[in-house]
Amino acid sequence: MNQQQNKTNNGDKKGVKKPNKFGLLNSITIGLLILFMISGLYSMIVDKKTSTVKITLSELVKDIGAGNVTSVTVKGDSLLAEYNDEKKTIKETNKETDSSVTETFARYGLTPEKLNAVKINVEGPSGFMYWFVQIAPFLAPLLFLGLIIWFLTRQVKGAGMQAFTFGQSKARITMPDDQKQKVTFKDVAGAKEAKQELAEIVDFLKNPKKFLEIGAVIPKGILLMGAPGTGKTLLARAVAGEAGVAFFAISGSEFVEMFVGVGASRVRDLFKMAKQNAPAIIFVDEIDAVGRVRGTGVGGGNDEREQTLNQILVEMDGFEPNEKVIVMAATNRPDVLDPALLRPGRFDRRVTIDLPDRNDREEILKIHSTKKPFAEDVVLRVIAERTPGFSGADLYSLMNEGAILAARENRTKISQYDLIRAIEKVMLGPERKSHLLSKKEKEITAYHEAGHALVSSVLPYADPVHKISIISRGRAAGYTLHLPLEDRKLQSKKEFLDDIAVSLGGYVVEKMMFNDVTTGPSNDLQVSTALARDMVTKYGMSEKIGVLALESSGGRALFGKGVEDKDYSEKVSADIDSEVARIMQESYKKAEDAVIKYKPALDAVAKRLIEIENLERDEYESIIVAHGIQPKKKEEIV
Ligand code: ADP
Ligand code: ZN
Ligand code: MG
Repeated sequence: MNQQQNKTNNGDKKGVKKPNKFGLLNSITIGLLILFMISGLYSMIVDKKTSTVKITLSELVKDIGAGNVTSVTVKGDSLLAEYNDEKKTIKETNKETDSSVTETFARYGLTPEKLNAVKINVEGPSGFMYWFVQIAPFLAPLLFLGLIIWFLTRQVKGAGMQAFTFGQSKARITMPDDQKQKVTFKDVAGAKEAKQELAEIVDFLKNPKKFLEIGAVIPKGILLMGAPGTGKTLLARAVAGEAGVAFFAISGSEFVEMFVGVGASRVRDLFKMAKQNAPAIIFVDEIDAVGRVRGTGVGGGNDEREQTLNQILVEMDGFEPNEKVIVMAATNRPDVLDPALLRPGRFDRRVTIDLPDRNDREEILKIHSTKKPFAEDVVLRVIAERTPGFSGADLYSLMNEGAILAARENRTKISQYDLIRAIEKVMLGPERKSHLLSKKEKEITAYHEAGHALVSSVLPYADPVHKISIISRGRAAGYTLHLPLEDRKLQSKKEFLDDIAVSLGGYVVEKMMFNDVTTGPSNDLQVSTALARDMVTKYGMSEKIGVLALESSGGRALFGKGVEDKDYSEKVSADIDSEVARIMQESYKKAEDAVIKYKPALDAVAKRLIEIENLERDEYESIIVAHGIQPKKKEEIV
């Protein structure tokens, strides 16, 4: 494997939804419990009444005739008779419903004299208990149903469907007085140009009058462009923090969800909220999720996306100049954005954030080293040196990995060695010590990596070797780390050609030493062939094809893959193939010449690798110097 600059990027951490603890079963159980309680109460009340002795009407008439009863109380449909015995027993009987008590008693043959001796009270059907007893049987099922419905709706909401609130924006709001979440320019290292550009925006948000009085039109939209992890989100927060205004952050993908029409209504809601809190910043992260070129008809859910995008444009056009709301957006794919987003009056300010250079990397490392105890041997400059191509997010995770390594080994301070191991971990994934190579595999891997390293050291335009390892990491069996002397923006044809030869170094050696090829170099071949093709079709580095950029970078997106539009004939296509093949063959020859010429050095490096598995730069160079290879100039480390 020939690894140059692999990057991991850790995306933004999204708010985590808590799982709902109330299952459907639970709500039904609760409903049932309540039902039981109601019916229990009901029967208690009813039972109290029936606890009196029940007698028939004729028995009561007989008792009244015998003069044993002092009073009769009419209560609804029942009669309660009080007896004149010691205990004042109360007996109950049912009254005839269609006639009055006196009539009933008269019909049963009681004489008026006997009746007069008895006090008759009529108690109206009133009181809570009476009504409760009457209504409860009907009420209970209704109540039960109501409860179930209530629990079900809670379920639906909890399950993340937000059935009742789906039109509201889900923006995360940071208010200016929130000190804990406050980010300022001090927290962002490097990115000087971007900060300068954004300082103007901060100035406007702080005192808009100055600008408005002189008739200046304030930019409405600012687009932050840069590779993942370069600090776009961080910078947007810093602008809000510096200006002391409210910050509404939402991710492009959050506009588009299951329900059609949600996106547009979320946009409306978001802008309304921001205007109410003006001055404010609206930050749309990953705007390419909604802002792709419209009308390509590629991918599903297009209409929904277009409506959302239209709504954003409408809202931005609807701003009054003094609205004091600024829209910031971030993307790492500016090439796929709809041109309508970029025209004047919308996202016409564009701020590019580059990957940090050596000095910036050191600054970023410093920012993330606060509160981390370092041993004396730590030199952040060396770490910055060794991490070209790392983004701010990579450096952040490097620092963290370093701390984890130290803690795992029960040390209280982070040493330089921890940080160096962390670089490799971030770049290539964790070591897989458990993945043991057989003796044969180890030999093949050692020769393979030694091949990369040697070709790299012999060819004049290749990068110097920093480390060789045959401990497998991630998917690679081993790797050779060679880093450029300086961060470079431009690469020359000679450098490309040497890079391809270095990539082929492993393959060449395997073939030469073992007269066989393993699956090991397949990635090397892919990378180098792709590079050769790019040289021919993109960079105009082939004499035969000439100065033609046949393929633009990017291309349309189809199911996450780029489909390139071919704008050239079959003949040119065949020419390209033959040019790519020629470049590959020449590079192969170059690599082969190098390893044949320095075969003893190759053997020595491979042998040492099998012994110790990791070869650092100094030891590696002492081996090749002993075999007559001049090592590459070392960069100055101060
Ligand atoms: P982006 O939005 O460009 O993908 P982020 O702003 O989310 O990147 O950056 C991720 C993390 O990386 C930040 O939280 C911060 O810790 C770190 N980081 C990135 N760039 C810088 C920088 N210039 N200075 C300090 N930290 C940075
Ligand atoms: Zn390789
Ligand atoms: Mg981001």
